[in-house]
This record gives sequence, C-alpha cells and structure tokens, in this order.
Amino acid sequence: MEKHSEAEVTKQVTDYMEARGWRLIRMNRGFFQRPDGSALSFGEPGMPDYLALHYRPAANVWIEMKRPAGAKPRCICLSKKPRQRCTACDQARWQLEERARGGTVWIIDGLERLERYLEAGGYQEAVQRQQEMKFVS
Ligand SMILES: [Mg+2]
Ligand SMILES: [Zn+2]
Repeated sequence: MEKHSEAEVTKQVTDYMEARGWRLIRMNRGFFQRPDGSALSFGEPGMPDYLALHYRPAANVWIEMKRPAGAKPRCICLSKKPRQRCTACDQARWQLEERARGGTVWIIDGLERLERYLEAGGYQEAVQRQQEMKFVS
C-alpha cells in the first residue's frame, strides 16, 4: 500500500474543495513572544486544521486532517507532564464541544471520506446548483 501523509491529504482536500468554490482557512494554534517579553497565545487547544467556508449557499465546516487508513490518534497523556492533556484528547474535546454548539466538524483522511461528508450533508448538490445558476446568468 502506498504511504500517504497528512500533508498529502491536506493538499488533495484543499484542491478538491477550492475547485468547488470553498474557501479553506488554515487555523493555527500556538504561542508568540512579543518583543516586550509578554506572551500571546492564539487559536484554541485541539482546534481543527482548517475552517472551510462556502458563500451562496452559505456553509461552514471545521476540518481536521488526518493521514489515511483510520489514523485514530492515540492518547499519550500519561507520557506528558502532570495536568497536561495530549493533542488527541484536546482534539476530541474540542470536537465534542463544537458539535454541541451546533458546529460541523469533519475528520478527513482522504477524498473518499470527504465526498461522503459532502454528499451526506447535501453540500455537493447545493454547490452544483449554484454553479449551474452562475452558468445560466
Ligand atoms: Mg490534523
Ligand atoms: Zn490524552
């Protein structure tokens, strides 16, 4: 079997969606030290890799990119310093909270899964309808 990285999946998924009118925004989580030494943190722990927006019809979807073959992230909390959660747990918690708010979060490990999400959500059809309307007008 061919080996695919998360970077390859990211490229495939962003190309596919951008070709269909989606706008994908990379969401970063990190820390920055200002010149005066004070710290600036941005993003949220466990936040997905991308926010995908579509205008007319409006849609917004959070996307966590994963390398293929059911790469279910493993918890490594025990190997971290006390009271620190691992990335897998941060992500699981973020996704749970966002879905509880009514948000849509997709975990994508390849085009096949992306297409299934798009179809199940009715997005393919809506985007296609919009493209046909553009063509007519
Ligand atoms: Mg990821
Ligand atoms: Zn963990």
